[in-house]
Amino acid sequence: MDIGRKLIVLILIFLIGGFLVYNNFFGGKAQQEFKNFILVGWDGVEREHLYDLLDKGQLPNLKKLVEKGAIVDTIATTASTETKPGWAEILTGYNAENLGIYDNIDYKPIPKGYTVFERLEDYFGEDTIATLFVGGKIDNIGARGPHKICVNCITRYPDTREKTFYKDEGTTAPTKRPGEERVLEDREGDPYFHTKDALDVYETALGNAANVGPKAVDYLEEYKDKRFFAFFHFEEPDELGHKDKGGSQGYLNGIMADDYWLGEIVAKLKELGVYEETLIYVTTDHGFNEGEVHHRSAPNTFLAANEKGLRNDGDRKDVAPTILYRYGIDTKAFSPPLDGVSLIGAENPVRIGYFRSARTQMIYRAYIQNYFDQEGVQARLYTGFLGETEFFEVPKSGEETRKIAERERRFGVVEGEEIADRIVAGEFDGGTLGSGSFVAAVHKGAPLVAVALLGYDASPAKSILMRKDVKIVSPDDFKGKTLISPRSGPGTAIFLREFLRDMGLDLEKDVTIIDNVYEDDAKKLLEQGKIDGGLFTLGEAESLVRSGKAYIYRPMDWMNSELSHGLLVFHTDFVKNHPDSVQKFVNGYVKRIAYEKNLAQEQGVAIQKKFQGLKSEEHSLPPRVRVDLLEEMQGLLYEYGFIDTKISMSNVVDHSFVEKAMDTQ
Ligand SMILES: [Zn+2]
Repeated sequence: MDIGRKLIVLILIFLIGGFLVYNNFFGGKAQQEFKNFILVGWDGVEREHLYDLLDKGQLPNLKKLVEKGAIVDTIATTASTETKPGWAEILTGYNAENLGIYDNIDYKPIPKGYTVFERLEDYFGEDTIATLFVGGKIDNIGARGPHKICVNCITRYPDTREKTFYKDEGTTAPTKRPGEERVLEDREGDPYFHTKDALDVYETALGNAANVGPKAVDYLEEYKDKRFFAFFHFEEPDELGHKDKGGSQGYLNGIMADDYWLGEIVAKLKELGVYEETLIYVTTDHGFNEGEVHHRSAPNTFLAANEKGLRNDGDRKDVAPTILYRYGIDTKAFSPPLDGVSLIGAENPVRIGYFRSARTQMIYRAYIQNYFDQEGVQARLYTGFLGETEFFEVPKSGEETRKIAERERRFGVVEGEEIADRIVAGEFDGGTLGSGSFVAAVHKGAPLVAVALLGYDASPAKSILMRKDVKIVSPDDFKGKTLISPRSGPGTAIFLREFLRDMGLDLEKDVTIIDNVYEDDAKKLLEQGKIDGGLFTLGEAESLVRSGKAYIYRPMDWMNSELSHGLLVFHTDFVKNHPDSVQKFVNGYVKRIAYEKNLAQEQGVAIQKKFQGLKSEEHSLPPRVRVDLLEEMQGLLYEYGFIDTKISMSNVVDHSFVEKAMDTQ
């Protein structure tokens, strides 16, 4: 790998948030059975300190949890980085606007029914599940009804850093400006004013971990025979940060105290024999400003779990949707709709191995225009550089992609065989393949199924192109010539041979054929006079003809040009296990085709590029896979010795997704 390439790859890795390093979405697809769920809340953990302590081995219990499962980055993007909005978002999946909780001063009760506790009580029935809320802090996770707070009082005494209880009507807290009258404002209630009624246990204001930890352990004992969902909230390290500053030894000790109690909770679950059926998630409400006694701007949070499959780079309000998803609760019907999304399960991105070409561009445009997201499925496209083994995420930005392609023309030039192998290996869920590559792959036993047709040559897009100074008057003039077929799987090698046969030439004796030539190389070879011509795609033909270096001898009319087409394929296991994701992906693709066709019609323009009898790829609507063409392609591959048997192509095609997508148009 040369330095320039390394740099590009590094930039890409940077752009996509280090997916090669934290590729958590490669794991954990199967839904694990569980009975209980414990959400452990560590208040005010600055993520970098957590990772640092984890690396140094100072959080042995979190380490064990993460080794079994995963830890991912989350972030606070709505409301302030404070405790009240933090836990409210985490426990509901809603943002500040929907909750009316913006910061520790500007708040109201969470609307009835919004919290994960209430959702679970509702889903299971109140006798079937016990919901527990056990916490260290006071008002910020409080449940008081209507009350007054002092809005111009100081919140902590400057010398002791102890709380002033400014949220009490009868507070004696000094005002921020000495001598000022206290300004008391009405509040409808603390965040959990409505929630508390639904809970089996609501016990807060317990203070530090030495109080919360033993309580939590006792409650596990008490509820061991029931199905339970528990939220155990620890005020560390936040409270210590407010006293000793973020990042101080006292602050770090707080995180270690949390870890100690995580260990005790796990030990208790094991002792009770319920550990294997209990999911444990650990998260925080906000970070902490380094060297400060506040966390005004500390959005970096985390989510850890004793199970795999968490997606990285979520939001703190994704925690509740993730929990609900794990319980199998359909959140789509919620009103208002949740602001967060599940970081696990079906909402994992669909990973598509992708080669850049005119026939796959529709998928790319659907991708960058959020057609897949709008269907409720995340998609990620991965590609590589010709000659490199690493694949990376294609930037979800046309601008960025163009820049990379301009810098490096080998960007996205990957073989169908390579993509097929990676799908088989489980690295991707599906991919884009040329028709020849697909037929060859399924003959090798690859468990692939074609679900949709990508771009296809409705009329000739490829042609036989000859060097300017090579005169062809009769077929005999091809004798002794050197011709290439482009790098795109076995199909194009066959198209060239079919042409030569059509011209009545002997493939063995009359011509020299070089297959699988990268188009930039073909251009150079032609310019250097090392080849006389060959089969070229429209784009290359146009540029060579326009620059006066070559001429089109014959558009690909000697056979059905439609044989040349792309396919959207998936691993058969993925189709079986995630039919919903496949359906949504196909829906997005079909909608994009419909949109472009409609746009072209409205504006009276053709989307296809035309040049000297050639016409670029088209898309059909519905984009139904053409079994007849696959059978024909199979016949050719057989004839030319690429495969040695024939199978029924309809067995490796599934039309149902396109059909359903058309129904929902
Ligand atoms: Zn705090």
